[in-house]
Amino acid sequence: VKHTRLHASLLLIVLLLPAHVWGWGFHAHRQITGRAVSILPEPLRAMMISHVDALAERSTEPDRIRRTDSLEQYNHFIDIDYYGEYPFSGLPRTYDAAVEKYGADTVRRYGLLPWKISEFTDRLTDAFRKGDHNDIMHCAAYLAHYVGDAHVPLHTTLNYDGQRTNQHGLHRRFESEIPERFSAQFEYDLPSVIPAISDPLDQAFRIVLESFVFMDSILIADTRAKELTGFDWMSNRSPSEQKSTKLNMEFYKVFNAQTGDLPRRRMEAATVAIARYWLTAWENAGQPEFNLSQ
Ligand SMILES: [Zn+2]
Repeated sequence: VKHTRLHASLLLIVLLLPAHVWGWGFHAHRQITGRAVSILPEPLRAMMISHVDALAERSTEPDRIRRTDSLEQYNHFIDIDYYGEYPFSGLPRTYDAAVEKYGADTVRRYGLLPWKISEFTDRLTDAFRKGDHNDIMHCAAYLAHYVGDAHVPLHTTLNYDGQRTNQHGLHRRFESEIPERFSAQFEYDLPSVIPAISDPLDQAFRIVLESFVFMDSILIADTRAKELTGFDWMSNRSPSEQKSTKLNMEFYKVFNAQTGDLPRRRMEAATVAIARYWLTAWENAGQPEFNLSQ
């Protein structure tokens, strides 16, 4: 009995740990990855649409393998404010130069996200070139995940869970709780033509900086929504608690409104960016024909 209790309390601790590296919840990752396929230009769209469901499902894999792969977690964020003040020009943008300046351990500890995006763009290019359908699925799904995570402001800062401003649990409130409640009704204004990206690494840093800029408004919105609704953040630390109470719903409605619908806008931007990254990899590979059903 003692044993069981110990295990149960350990499990509870794990569940209550700050969700530093969650990224969008699974639901949001699936939605943005699926929609990204639909805005690809032909013939790329036609070649990928048959596997849209598998791809959307697979886009959650990087979060799932974190449980068994201890190094995976560092791929999902960059605490860019560790490196000084916006726009953080002291941080060299290439990985090798960053490691030379700060050391590999530090660069990993504060997150590898932009470099993973450029790495997986190249890996997807190779997969397209080889026509290897397993590898195309793998790299396209991982690239989608990391590009998606880069659009979450809380993945770009040391204050990743609001813990530095006494707003613990903010990570999940913003990127999982809001999308889970409202994303079925989100309407996206998606472009009919998307351009490829000339410099995938530079673009990844642009996305990160853009995300970072939204941090202040998220912190203010979270506090304001708490004041307006009387909702207690601490009562909602575990996902199963109070899921459907009226106060809970009211808080997330007000929080979302106070951010100016930011979760929807970031998911919209992520959708476009994912499609642009896939298109870039495919163009760099020479626009090959491939068949995912092989
Ligand atoms: Zn993630």
